[in-house]
Amino acid sequence: MRIGKWPAGYLSLMAILALAAGLASRYLVGRRCEMDGQALSPTLRVDLKLADGVTHSFCSIECARRWLAAQKQPVKEALVRDALNGDPLDAYVAVFVESPIVTNRANGNHIHAFRARTDAMDHIRRFGGHEIDDPFETP
Ligand SMILES: [Zn+2]
Repeated sequence: MRIGKWPAGYLSLMAILALAAGLASRYLVGRRCEMDGQALSPTLRVDLKLADGVTHSFCSIECARRWLAAQKQPVKEALVRDALNGDPLDAYVAVFVESPIVTNRANGNHIHAFRARTDAMDHIRRFGGHEIDDPFETP
């Protein structure tokens, strides 16, 4: 009777694997950039919460900026990552720099966020570029 038990065990194992794969794909889909589908890097991602309360995630400032240009709702909260250490940072306190340094060749992101103005100025001194306004500021 061991042979009779095997298919049931096999089927329940397959069911568990299918469930796990479903959960994994749902989780992974939620971890991709909503603009170009690239994987989200914990040190470069941008999270935008719009007026409807829904948060959208992007792989870079450039993607978030492009995506936002097509939206009708204003941004309620924008969370960027510090270019030096990846720490989450509210966009309204960040210093943004546009420089020749490209963080992502696929979308050409060359905008960097810094918590400290001294870090932003150091980046400009070393790599060139200039400070820009908060790309997520609502007029
Ligand atoms: Zn992207």
